[in-house]
Amino acid sequence: MTESDCLFCKIIADEIPADIIHESPDAIAFRDINPQAPTHVLIVPRRHISTINDLDESDTDAVGQLFLAARNIARQEGFAEDGYRVTMNCNAAAGQTVFHIHLHLLGGRNFTWPPG
Ligand code: AMP
Ligand code: ZN
Repeated sequence: MTESDCLFCKIIADEIPADIIHESPDAIAFRDINPQAPTHVLIVPRRHISTINDLDESDTDAVGQLFLAARNIARQEGFAEDGYRVTMNCNAAAGQTVFHIHLHLLGGRNFTWPPG
């Protein structure tokens, strides 16, 4: 499903440019336009799903693919062993601004906990 007014669906459809670093049948990954770490990549399922709240059982493989892509990109970027962070924000209280689920992969620096 493609949502005509969804920014990430437009990137997936090649209607808006992005620095795409990974593509598979289920997901794409591209560099965040406003990076919060030396590496900040967004890993996005091709199928439009607005929020974590909208997931159902048929999405389990698609979501699993996001984590496998994160693992692979962390290796490629060279920080798999040092460590990295993956985050998915859900709705306003968590700061979600693009309503097509995406895994943030952040690496290349140290992170603190708890997050802001
Ligand atoms: P979230 O706030 O979790 O919904 O994350 C949305 C992310 O998308 C933010 O980190 C933005 O910087 C990023 N973003 C917004 N527009 C673009 C774009 N055109 N290309 C790449 N990243 C984008
Ligand atoms: Zn979308």
